[in-house]
Amino acid sequence: MLLLIPGPVQTRPEVKAAMAQDIAPWDRDFQKVYARVRERIVAVAGGRLGEHATLPIQGAGHFVSEAALRTFVAPGAKVLIPMNGAYAQRMARLAREAGREVVALPLPDTQGATAADILPALDADPSIGTVAMVFNETGSGIVNDAPGIGAALRARGTRLILDAVSAFGVLPFPLAEHPECDALVFTSGKCLEGMPGMGFAVCRIDRAEACAGNAGSWSFDLSDVLAHARRSGWGSIRFTPPVQAIAAFDVALDLYDAEGGQAARRARYQANTDILYDGTVALGLRPYLAREQQGPVIVTIHQPADPRFDLMTFVEALKRHGVLISNFYNTAAPTMRIGAIGAITPDDMRCAVAAIGAALREVLPRAA
Ligand SMILES: *Cc1c(COP(=O)(O)O)cnc(C)c1O
Repeated sequence: MLLLIPGPVQTRPEVKAAMAQDIAPWDRDFQKVYARVRERIVAVAGGRLGEHATLPIQGAGHFVSEAALRTFVAPGAKVLIPMNGAYAQRMARLAREAGREVVALPLPDTQGATAADILPALDADPSIGTVAMVFNETGSGIVNDAPGIGAALRARGTRLILDAVSAFGVLPFPLAEHPECDALVFTSGKCLEGMPGMGFAVCRIDRAEACAGNAGSWSFDLSDVLAHARRSGWGSIRFTPPVQAIAAFDVALDLYDAEGGQAARRARYQANTDILYDGTVALGLRPYLAREQQGPVIVTIHQPADPRFDLMTFVEALKRHGVLISNFYNTAAPTMRIGAIGAITPDDMRCAVAAIGAALREVLPRAA
């Protein structure tokens, strides 16, 4: 089965094989692996060891996003969130339920946000200390201009929390050039092609220290994750982690390096995206995004207007052709969402487009 979803993604056999062992989290051999993974992540993030640290939280991406919001936005403080997609809405809910004051900035979900979209809202309310935003919006496929927005925030002394869950490793945001960024958040199961199970925040050490006491939750406190590493070592973890997913992630990082790192992976995902975008247009389907708004991670396509079309029926038909796509959508209009990431090649994508065509002909047979 070809998994074309934006996470957890198709993984390579070497990554799966690394899971086939029993591991004690406090074992010295495993501690070396965990400490190494944390260092390697700082390098992928373009950070500097000593200035930045990887502060992991086990579980789903929402958990580490919540931890970043709780740690770097004080209780009751304001956080501006550009709202142009499903994941931005999720971030807003996490912040609100943690007792932070969300200033929601509504924007269309068909266009990436830029500094020009955000600055007027910040000018209007100087008490907003932090912007939290999604880098690649996995609901639609748009890319928000995180580097440009980061630069604008830096100039005015506003802090940034960046949900790069579906961007990290592919869309560059070099932390050494972005001191305004308190946390760059991602997970093991997306563009780095590991197993799901771990969330990571790459943070400024000085900020994680200064924000101690904010979180109001032991589980979701990145300052405490840092303090624990200082006390017990970088190979030590506070609570039982998904050890096999961490071991697999170390191998996934080997494969990432072997492929050529960020530029090479982005080029492969871009090629996948182009084949998918052009291929579905050739099948007579209509992409949700204009070409220039289309990012390299996920392609959303309008569902056919034909009243016979039912997404769940189509997804099951496509599965019989060996391709699995999401059986839900979260754009404003009804779409199909198809991932372009994971251990898949342009050849796989060409097969997938053929399968989509075949499944469409099954669920929408031409009237005789
Ligand atoms: C996948 C994703 C998340 C986290 O999802 P989980 O299901 O909690 O792992 C958060 N933000 C974005 C942009 C994502 O793509």
